[in-house]
Amino acid sequence: MNKTDSNQCILQGIGVSPGVVIGRAFLLDRAKLKPVMEKISSEQVQAEIERYLHAIATARQELLDGHEKLVETSAENNGNQKHLYLFDVHLMMMDDKMLTDDTVKLIREKKISAEWALNLNVEKIKKIFNRMDDPYMRERQTDITHVAERILRQLMKSDYDSIEKISKNVILIAHDLSPADTMQLNLNKVKAFVTDLGGRTSHTAIIARSMEIPAVVGLERATEMINGGNQLIVDAIDGRIIVSPTAEQIRTYKEKAEKHLFFQQQLIQNRDLAPLTKDGYTIELAANIESPEEAESSVSHGAGAIGLYRTEFIYLNRTDLPSEEEHYLTYKRALQNASGQEITIRTLDLGYDKLSSHAFHEDTINPAMGLRGIRLCFKQKEIFRQQLRGILRASHHGKVRILFPMISGVRDSRQAIGILTEVKEELRHQGIPFDENIPVGVMIEVPSAAIIADLLAPEVDYFSVGTNDLIQYTLAVDRVNEHVSCFYEPLHPSILRLLQSTIEAAHGNGIPVCVCGEMAGEPLYTLVLMGLGLDQLSMNPLSVPYIKKIIRSSTYKEAREIVAKCLTFKVATEVEEYVAEQMHQRFPDDLLMNLQNN
Ligand code: PEP
Ligand code: MG
Repeated sequence: MNKTDSNQCILQGIGVSPGVVIGRAFLLDRAKLKPVMEKISSEQVQAEIERYLHAIATARQELLDGHEKLVETSAENNGNQKHLYLFDVHLMMMDDKMLTDDTVKLIREKKISAEWALNLNVEKIKKIFNRMDDPYMRERQTDITHVAERILRQLMKSDYDSIEKISKNVILIAHDLSPADTMQLNLNKVKAFVTDLGGRTSHTAIIARSMEIPAVVGLERATEMINGGNQLIVDAIDGRIIVSPTAEQIRTYKEKAEKHLFFQQQLIQNRDLAPLTKDGYTIELAANIESPEEAESSVSHGAGAIGLYRTEFIYLNRTDLPSEEEHYLTYKRALQNASGQEITIRTLDLGYDKLSSHAFHEDTINPAMGLRGIRLCFKQKEIFRQQLRGILRASHHGKVRILFPMISGVRDSRQAIGILTEVKEELRHQGIPFDENIPVGVMIEVPSAAIIADLLAPEVDYFSVGTNDLIQYTLAVDRVNEHVSCFYEPLHPSILRLLQSTIEAAHGNGIPVCVCGEMAGEPLYTLVLMGLGLDQLSMNPLSVPYIKKIIRSSTYKEAREIVAKCLTFKVATEVEEYVAEQMHQRFPDDLLMNLQNN
């Protein structure tokens, strides 16, 4: 952070979704809602009970208003209708006697403030839910917390602002936003967002890119340094926030915003051109999506396929589990929106960082290495089977590939394929059509899988390298922790070697390899990945036009030479400097080339 005068400060974070926005800050500060133990006198009891009942009534009305607003905006906001019923769940909880009567009893008997009584009661209710065997019921703990927060806000007359309250164009400032929160942002109102936490490959960043909303994360103290209503410049290209800018700065950044827009518009003209190098080498460009609606943007940004459909988002922002039918209809819709493009559907990969409110959430010390991805599916087989049935049924309507996440070795891939084989047999038996030749692949994102890629390759039809996790696990750097983001080095010699040996193993066994981690969409890495011999790069749709431009302006020969040189360095920063120099020489004026350097 850099203070320039008494009012102004400049904050440096990580620009994760490009764009330049000037506007007013809207502060989302959850930390303020901390009730403290407070005793009251016998004379105050009745008034305190009334205050509590009044807070519930107001919170209830607020919830009803929010419901109405969501109904109005859901059509424009990425099909949020399916989340409307969450409001019903919260209303039901608010009306529950356990929440009302027991809190009133605590106020009366213990002579404590309404805030503290509510806090004690909610902790008790959460414990009851936590002891239940049924995972859906256990999940209700998160809902009860949200409901209690809503009432607390009324009681504490907190100046806490909620996302639903946003009524005019703002830049959202939050300590953290979960991927689920991010997906619910109203794009008509929230022009950009800024968070204290987060890294470049966190799922919140991934969602921001897919929603094309400019975002800067990992600022550490943005919520402290920025006040609601402050004028801000958000430069999400360079990861910079200017609080209370001067007129001169506003002029400069308006120009930058226009330049960026112009650059994007120019790029999109590449859309229908082939991803072909000057010496005739093709590298397929594909899009990563998180919802069926986004499948269209693969086509509109000039990708040739959908290389990664992260299906875990079907499971978020809800309290029940998707049925087989819902899976089937969702994937069928994605296929229709993709206008005939092939879709690689990855099976459920619920991980710790996507789990803001889910049944599978576990308090564990080391969640990134816990029950996530395919491991969860092995444990919750019925959930896995429902999804596989849905995917297989959809494969009857278009080109589909199945992808298994978090595979650590041949035992995992065999187990996953074994379950798939059983599910196929079931469908055959029931006379339900599906693609008998559906390709099956595994993510290479756990270092053990990369190390034994030669053993895995004969078992599957293709590999998809998840560099986000591969880097995290190989370098032991948490991808969502802004304090270690400087250690997250995609060009580390170990990563280059793992990529090289994985590609060799795949090609030696006649199967193709894709990279679908964020590296694939970073312009700085395009020639390195191309030179390593990857067959497909799958990225957020927004990056496709620029990556295509790089490919079309280069030769495979020069990419091979760059890689050969990269493999001679011992230190990641040396590789980075060399690659940056090479790319800047070739593309000196391109705004986006700096994106990953901040
Ligand atoms: C990856 O790990 O690189 C990947 C593509 O999967 P996700 O980001 O969903 O973990
Ligand atoms: Mg991953």
